[in-house]
Amino acid sequence: MARIAFIGLGNMGGPMAANLVKAGHDVTGFDLAAPMLQTAEATGVKPANHISQAVADAEVIVTMLPQGRHVLTAWTDIFRAIPAGALVIDCSTIDVESARKAHEMAAAAGCLSLDAPVSGGTSGAAAGTLTFMVGGSGESFAKAKPMLEAMGRKIVHCGEAGAGQAAKICNNMILGISMIGVCEAFALGEKLGLSHQALFDVASTSSGQCWSISTYCPVPGPVPTSPANNDYKPGFAAALMLKDLRLSQEAALATGASTPLGAEAARLFALFEKQGNGSRDFSAIIEMLRLSDG
Ligand code: NAD
Repeated sequence: MARIAFIGLGNMGGPMAANLVKAGHDVTGFDLAAPMLQTAEATGVKPANHISQAVADAEVIVTMLPQGRHVLTAWTDIFRAIPAGALVIDCSTIDVESARKAHEMAAAAGCLSLDAPVSGGTSGAAAGTLTFMVGGSGESFAKAKPMLEAMGRKIVHCGEAGAGQAAKICNNMILGISMIGVCEAFALGEKLGLSHQALFDVASTSSGQCWSISTYCPVPGPVPTSPANNDYKPGFAAALMLKDLRLSQEAALATGASTPLGAEAARLFALFEKQGNGSRDFSAIIEMLRLSDG
């Protein structure tokens, strides 16, 4: 079992660190917010007063932070405090450019590194059923795999440095676009007098089938576990969907890729957030789409 430092014990990081403890690892945690540290302590994570204290003795360091700038700041502090040879894994969702910079910092410090963003949300983090999309060397991946398996169910090695973040933003661009498509179809079906259940029964088993309809149906009824049945409580907050769509658009701009539907999805989710819906589930965008076609 490994000595692990876990940096960023928020909605995702807290339960992920708890699963590493459950798997028998020796986990020391640090978060800038004291309440997060206290909650993690109750799950068996040893609290540290400073990032340097958390990582000093660690063989493996995991970061789970909001954005690229937080990761680069934390990794700068980490490499000041650890010896060469440690493995550093970033599980945050960040831009590909920052992820690659982080790998370069690790290489300069003589450490192994991975970008390993996740999908599966807070429920997946708590249940240990996350999907990890991993970028980095084969050696780093082999070393990290047993630890990632303690937090997730599916671990995919996507390629070299940055490939995990690339896979994450491409996947979530599909998700943002497909959810809007499904919402538009239900809004149109309503105008045509089609029941939600009838459209669901057809589209969830026909060529319109996708995760946004079969697992996360944006109207109440057909899929009882979807946020639409719970007043659109997230779930996956619209602000996070917008964050990921913006990352996809930054990447499209940087690489010259053409993503017109990704751009439109980002525009619509930005409008939805501006109307005060950032903390609602992203499938609630059906309400805005109904109004704009009215
Ligand atoms: P969160 O805001 O709940 O947690 C982030 C934590 O990092 C906070 O507790 C904050 O205090 C801490 N932090 C910030 N800077 C720090 C630093 N320098 N040192 C130590 N702690 C620091 O966010 P979250 O929902 O846990 O998301 C974390 C990452 O996971 C994000 O990149 C997000 O996009 C991604 N993600 C989230 C979800 C989700 O459903 N919440 C799903 C998939 C991916």
